[in-house]
Amino acid sequence: MLERTPWLKEPPGQKGNELRESFDLYPPGEGKTSFPVSWPPAFRVESGTAAREPSSTFSYLGQIHQTYLTFSSPEGLILVDQHAAHERVLLEKLLTRFSQGAVPKQPLLLPEVMDLPAGEAKIVEDHLADLARMGFEMEPSGRRTFWVKSTPEILADREPMETLKEMIKEISSWGRDVDLQRSFDPLLKMMACRGAIQAYRPLGREEAQALLADLQNCATPSHCPHGRPTLIKITIAELEKMFGRR
Ligand SMILES: [Zn+2]
Repeated sequence: MLERTPWLKEPPGQKGNELRESFDLYPPGEGKTSFPVSWPPAFRVESGTAAREPSSTFSYLGQIHQTYLTFSSPEGLILVDQHAAHERVLLEKLLTRFSQGAVPKQPLLLPEVMDLPAGEAKIVEDHLADLARMGFEMEPSGRRTFWVKSTPEILADREPMETLKEMIKEISSWGRDVDLQRSFDPLLKMMACRGAIQAYRPLGREEAQALLADLQNCATPSHCPHGRPTLIKITIAELEKMFGRR
């Protein structure tokens, strides 16, 4: 199973409420973030601190704005951005499975037809094997038409065809000779973003705790693939300072 937290998949009927993230929202500052330069240093995320504490020391407090999960720990208050955190978790799982061979896929009971402009059709034809490794099995049927026979498991209920179209557009923008064996990274990031739980979705205690545990198992838990923080810690000392106790 690709996800340890499969219940984080979107339940049917929730789609209208969620805020979809746009890739243009955040510049691809790999691992870096401009957040929160103007804030006191106390609010900055230090990788290797809260993100590495055992999750058993955190107790879940609740969700704010259906987007931020709050936990208390012996060291202070922890805030988690549910989309950024889940996106990080999914990306690392995708990267692992991709490097082991292929991303887990789900066959479509009824294959979907995809018609593409000539340029994009050529790109798809040149990269059928790479797309299959990413979970999209496609079979040519005519000059500009393809049967899509499987989609990645993590996108099963997340409009996989839309994501596929975006990925094909992205690949064609890279030019004809692109080597997807090397340039798969941005494509897996797109899949992680689309597959991840969105902001403005209610989460239960069990889901929130599972997400935090998954995040803490990541190699780079402190930032999402867009470079935004996944987790912010406000220490007891900082709280005391804010309340004028020291
Ligand atoms: Zn995202």
